Amino acid sequence: MADHTSRAHAFLTASGSVRWLACTPSAKLEAEFPDTRSEAAAEGTLSHEICEIKARQRFFKKGEAGYIAKSVATRELNKLRKDPLYQDEMEDHTDTYVEELDLQALGFQERPYIALETRLDLSDWIPGGFGTADCIMVGGDKLLVADFKYGKGVRVDAENNTQMQLYALGAWKKFSLVYDIKRITMVIIQPRLSVNPSIWEIAIEDLISFGSYAGERAAMAINGEGDYNPGEDQCRFCRARERCRARADYNIQMAFGDIVGKLPPLITDEEVGEYLTKGEDVAKWLKDLQDYALSACLAGTDIPGYKAVEGRGSRDWTDQDAAFKALQAAGIPETMMYERKALTLAALEKVVGKKAFGETVGEFIKMKPGKPALVKASDKRPAITNIPSVEEAFAGVTE
Ligand code: SF4
Repeated sequence: MADHTSRAHAFLTASGSVRWLACTPSAKLEAEFPDTRSEAAAEGTLSHEICEIKARQRFFKKGEAGYIAKSVATRELNKLRKDPLYQDEMEDHTDTYVEELDLQALGFQERPYIALETRLDLSDWIPGGFGTADCIMVGGDKLLVADFKYGKGVRVDAENNTQMQLYALGAWKKFSLVYDIKRITMVIIQPRLSVNPSIWEIAIEDLISFGSYAGERAAMAINGEGDYNPGEDQCRFCRARERCRARADYNIQMAFGDIVGKLPPLITDEEVGEYLTKGEDVAKWLKDLQDYALSACLAGTDIPGYKAVEGRGSRDWTDQDAAFKALQAAGIPETMMYERKALTLAALEKVVGKKAFGETVGEFIKMKPGKPALVKASDKRPAITNIPSVEEAFAGVTE
């Protein structure tokens, strides 16, 4: 089984490429800060381990490399299910991953060659670089690289995704001697955020020219050359994001930039859009500063004008069973102490099972529209308005 925990420790990682490609000196600056693994990253690792076992069960038959016997898979899965970070919902999400891979395999003219958890040599583009692709499929002139994302904070798009393009380059290098690859498809499966994967295709010529660009930027990043280039995408997970001066200057300029000349008393809708876009990273930057300042204060460092205090506490039982017994003994009826509540639709479906649930109560389920939400214009969902259409406006009107 692949070692998911120690996957990427190169100086320039494919997963961090969005950062060092856009802001080349960030790699050296980040090296000054410890690489603290978050709980979310550990959850991601665990879910990847489950994905790998399920995918191996689905795609490899006895005698094939990658095959895993049912008893071994069950034992390994049971071990993973004992992990404190394991959640029941991981089963559904990892199943979705394998089902999507199945669908993607059907998109090939013949059954493709499938490789799971493949270490890729990226050194043609990044000195000493390597990466591990979750799944690679290759057949005819088509190469497919798929990646599972367990996070639900930020939707990761396959389009122009630099990590995926670097993996695709590594996969192309690995398989191009045997396959005449011309088309590359990248698939990101992020089931906690969307049932639909994000898919993007690129021609081999365009991928190769991305590789040349990445190679030039990597050489600069290794030497700490180039200008700091703050921006929402590259700063989001940068380890220097709280203390980076370039980011601080950029956000101060965004928030308090010069006002030139006398302007009308009301801001325009164009300005509303502009400020929302500009303000997004300012808000994140302030939150990062607060997080940093809190840990600094807790560590005894003086941050002028601030201090750490204990937040508002809440009451909790020392022994809930004993307390409830005492209440009952005092004559409080059990019906007052417990409430009978219907499970939510999603929770009930989980308990009953998708198929049986749909067959039994499918006819009683309707889609309720979600609350209107403001998103960026690049979001894939169609725009909505509450202006009635011509048909709605004239509904019921007769001459
Ligand atoms: S915080 Fe942003 S600008 Fe600063 S080094 Fe990191 S990526 Fe570059």
